[in-house]
Amino acid sequence: MTVRLSRSIVGPEEAAAVTRVLLEDGYLGMGAEVKAFESEVAAFLGVPPEHVSAVSSGTAAVHVAVASTLEPGDEVLVQSLTFVATFQAISAAGCVPVSCEINPSTISIDLADAERRITPRTRAIMPVHYASYPAQYREVYKFAERHGLRVIEDAAHAFGCEVEGRPVGRGGDVVCFSFDGIKNITTGEGGAVVTADPVIGPRVRDARLLGVEKDTEQRYRGQRSWEFDVRRQGYRYHMSNLFAAIGRVQLRRFPEEFAPARRRLAARYRERLAVMPGVGLLDTDLATVVPHLQPALIKHGLRDAVRSALDAVGIQSGLHYMPNHLLTFYGGGRESLPVTEAVFAEMVSLPLHPGLSITDIDAVCDVIGSVVMRSSRESGV
Ligand SMILES: *Cc1c(COP(=O)(O)O)cnc(C)c1O
Repeated sequence: MTVRLSRSIVGPEEAAAVTRVLLEDGYLGMGAEVKAFESEVAAFLGVPPEHVSAVSSGTAAVHVAVASTLEPGDEVLVQSLTFVATFQAISAAGCVPVSCEINPSTISIDLADAERRITPRTRAIMPVHYASYPAQYREVYKFAERHGLRVIEDAAHAFGCEVEGRPVGRGGDVVCFSFDGIKNITTGEGGAVVTADPVIGPRVRDARLLGVEKDTEQRYRGQRSWEFDVRRQGYRYHMSNLFAAIGRVQLRRFPEEFAPARRRLAARYRERLAVMPGVGLLDTDLATVVPHLQPALIKHGLRDAVRSALDAVGIQSGLHYMPNHLLTFYGGGRESLPVTEAVFAEMVSLPLHPGLSITDIDAVCDVIGSVVMRSSRESGV
């Protein structure tokens, strides 16, 4: 038996869409299909189509968002416990990711800790909607307002989630999504930046096409810019028609298929794990969140025993994520972040993707239960 941690859920419909682009359209660059995907994402979020810029990955989305919003040398407050892509995208723009502590109940940035790290160079805060939950969303925006900071959301996990009664992506400052193979929807590889800012939005659109001014509008008319100006650093970060075609199918499948499946499986995990001694769950709200990850916190030093027991029966598990402040490039643990490090030592990510059944979830929980129950009997707890 192999129960996979995550998996792309694609099939005949996605294959047909890619085939249609290959055989009927034949244009594989950024054109009509990308424009349609952006419009459909915009309709899904309830924003105007020009507020959505599709790019080649989630990392590219964060990079181009930071580069279009901030200046080199600017400092960005961000939790250390996030995918290394968040940090790499910030430093790629010449900015400085400032590692912050987390609230252990949600793995969201600890604002009191972040406040202590503010310097005259601090220009932005980047909340990471860990496991898709936009925790303390309003507090983050209030914090930013109080300190005159921009908010660049790493919403890579949070496509299709809601906060304060609206979709994540609508009403935010600059919001970055990932459509990589295992996220809530996929384009194969891809991402998007969503912003209503009249300066940053057009900058992102130009920057994804090597900074060529208004090239997006030309390409959407099936034309190219032959004579043009470039005023800022740009990147080769546009999305391909092939990938957009996959994304359009995924977007249609999301509400009826992917979202309910992820919620149902996560609800089962919560029901089973909540009653186990020494197993912690993060706060979330499955009415508004479509979970990308299923984290659990395994106490009493049993995390690795749980992972080995899962591995022994062919159940994959993961660690999301290696804290960035421990990486050589981002300080090599020169400063310690005790809460982050303690949470990292207890965390495990359990299999979660729409290809799993309730029976699979029960099998995972049975293994975890056997390890933690044996231990609590032995220690007489
Ligand atoms: C996936 C992810 C990214 C990067 O997205 P890619 O599409 O893989 O480049 C950034 N931040 C977080 C938190 C992610 O999970």
